[in-house]
Amino acid sequence: MGAVESFKIALDAFRVMQDLAGSAASAELNRRIAEAYAAVTTAYADAIELREENVNLKRQLADDSEQRALREALSREGDVYWLRPPPPGHHDGPFCMLCSDVDHKLVTVTEFTTHDSKPEWRCRKCNQYVPRRM
Ligand SMILES: [Zn+2]
Repeated sequence: MGAVESFKIALDAFRVMQDLAGSAASAELNRRIAEAYAAVTTAYADAIELREENVNLKRQLADDSEQRALREALSREGDVYWLRPPPPGHHDGPFCMLCSDVDHKLVTVTEFTTHDSKPEWRCRKCNQYVPRRM
């Protein structure tokens, strides 16, 4: 059971205790229960906030880990990048250097041949053309 669920159970228990104490007409007991209830309510809100922060941090860590794996696998050949070896879920390329270096995005380039039959890579995102080595 997580902290958030434990706080829910504690808050329910305090509500029952308040009902019981109310019938016993004990002012001191009611005051103490109200204090404990307020403290648990604050801790409950903190636990919810911490749980959300933890989820976000785990997501950020996974993203950073994937980005690091991609950067480590990136290999420059000519004026394009390849992933050697490609991490799971990725193809090996080739990728646009400009988009990778500037925008930190892997954009696949496509083969292109100029009107005078020179092979090039073309990036459809930034529209850059670079020589393709045969
Ligand atoms: Zn590009």
